Order: sequence, then C-alpha cells, then structure tokens
Amino acid sequence: MKQSFTISGITIDVTRKNVKNLNLRVYPSDGRVTISCPRMLSYKKILRFTEERIPWIKKHLQRPKPKSSAKLDYVTGEMVSVWGDRLKLTVFEANKPREVLAENAGGIHLRVKPGDDREKRKKLLESWYRAELKREIPQLISEWEPRMEVSVCEFGVKKMKTRWGTCNIRDRRVWINLELAKKHPDCLEFIVVHEMVHLLERLHSKRFYRLMDQFLPDWREREKLLIT
Ligand SMILES: [Zn+2]
Repeated sequence: MKQSFTISGITIDVTRKNVKNLNLRVYPSDGRVTISCPRMLSYKKILRFTEERIPWIKKHLQRPKPKSSAKLDYVTGEMVSVWGDRLKLTVFEANKPREVLAENAGGIHLRVKPGDDREKRKKLLESWYRAELKREIPQLISEWEPRMEVSVCEFGVKKMKTRWGTCNIRDRRVWINLELAKKHPDCLEFIVVHEMVHLLERLHSKRFYRLMDQFLPDWREREKLLIT
C-alpha cells in the first residue's frame, strides 16, 4: 500500500510491506524521500519517526548545496527559504505597489516595479522577512513571559553576521536575526527563549542551560535544525 505525506515542505512516500523495520531513504538527486515500513505500523509512529529525522533528511537532500540566498539573483525559478521550506520564486513586474505574496503550494511571488534591479528585489524580500518575524515574535514573547516570569520591554529584528539573537539585559531588549525567517519556526522560538533566559541568567552558565532544559527540553534539536 502506498501513501504520501508532507512534512516541513518535504514529501515522503510511504510503502507498507512485509518488512520488520522502518526504512528511510533519501534521494538527493531528485529530492525523493521514501519510507518502507511494516503493514500495521501506525501513522503516528511513522510521523514521529520522520519528524525526529527532519534535520538529517534536510541535510542529505541538500547535496549538492542549494544556492545560498546571498547569491540569489531574485529572478523567477530560484528557490527561496521561508520558515524552513524552500519555495519557488516568481517575479513579475507591475505598476502597482511592491508586494510579496507567499503560499506554500504556489511558492513565493514578488511583485516589483518595472525596472527594479536585484538590490530593490532583495530589499523587498527582506522587508517581507522582517514583517513575518515582527508578526511572530510578539506572540512568542507574550506566550513565554508568564511561563518564565520575565518581561521584555522591546524587541527588534536586524541583520547580524555572527549571532542569531542578542539580549540587552538592562533595557530588557531582544534583537532577533533576520535570517530566522528562513528557518523552521521552532528555531525562532528557540532563539527567543534563549534570549529571554538571559533575563534570568546573564551568562551561558550551568544555570543557564538548566533553565533552557526546564523551559524548552528539546532546545538541542532546535539548535541542530538551525544549522542544517
Ligand atoms: Zn546567549
């Protein structure tokens, strides 16, 4: 029996047959991922098995490496990272305000003005990433404030070369790296929580990681997801 499901933007074909174990195979050449498993195995178990291996799957699917966004030309047909997915980019010109339209199945559409160059297109996409983050971050902060019994005064989004986030403890201000809009949402939550833990513990001390374990027990997996 054949089934397929999509997780983190990856379509996985499942074949149930007379086997003892669950087998996962990745074919980086054409992006195919297959699972063969025992006939009676529950969907839930298959899903959990797959979820745990998403970073591994992504890593193996990415050979050869995808074009990094730094090298994008912002033209139709390129692949763009959005919330951990790779979306196909469509660029079209119109005498209307510049806009980004994103949907999982249809990819990501950039409406630009006639003659907009690479720099203008890049700026447009970046402002959209920023807006995505600015929508998500306040929700995360207000979710975590009562759980952690801390309060954040202000947050911001900026481009950073070496860090995913920073926290100014005195001003209780959190900065989030713009790149996080390209990663799985679990990564953003991990960074927000990490920065908020600094409001309880300044240093990356044992206590810091104890607090991380307490608030976000799976933070290590999220960290791995961030670098894949
Ligand atoms: Zn830190």
